[in-house]
Amino acid sequence: MTNEAPTYIKPGDVLAPKRHWQLFHVLYDGGPTGGEKANATGSSLAIGRWDTKPVLAMRWNGNRENPIGNPQSRGLPTWFIVPDEHARQIIETQHYDFSNDKIQFARDFLELKRVYFLTRCSTTSCSNFGNLVLQSYPPEKLEEYIADLERDDLKFYCIYCDQQWHPTAEEKPRLEEVLKQGLERYRTRGGR
Ligand SMILES: [Zn+2]
Repeated sequence: MTNEAPTYIKPGDVLAPKRHWQLFHVLYDGGPTGGEKANATGSSLAIGRWDTKPVLAMRWNGNRENPIGNPQSRGLPTWFIVPDEHARQIIETQHYDFSNDKIQFARDFLELKRVYFLTRCSTTSCSNFGNLVLQSYPPEKLEEYIADLERDDLKFYCIYCDQQWHPTAEEKPRLEEVLKQGLERYRTRGGR
């Protein structure tokens, strides 16, 4: 094995177009397109938000000859947004061999059974300090959470250290936006 530079842009770095697309979590990275690994597909699968809508997204990773992969727009790598009616089938397909927990996590996100927000543990003594911690909010309680957040009563929680802390000044407006968009989508969907 030689130590080669990556031959394609990793799906975690595919963030365009920033006005519309917010990458939330890469579910699968199949390596370079046309790669030789037996189970390599050369494609990637992710969940994210397109405008405010939770969506499943796919792309061809590309390779040395075409490092940007497909789709692309104005020279930047982008994602293909999978139509809702195909999303569930794709994440449940045996090819990916996702665990039930992973499938449930993706479905909860896509079907708005949960609204998620990523933060980092701020407890310096925690084994997970500085690493990502996923916060999840059930949609039927979003109104309460938004009110709590506005009163500065809403705290994040880390399962590793069992500690709670307040969102930072930078996180607060982002969290508020995510919760409000979630609430709006939940209402539009007739969830109440
Ligand atoms: Zn922690």
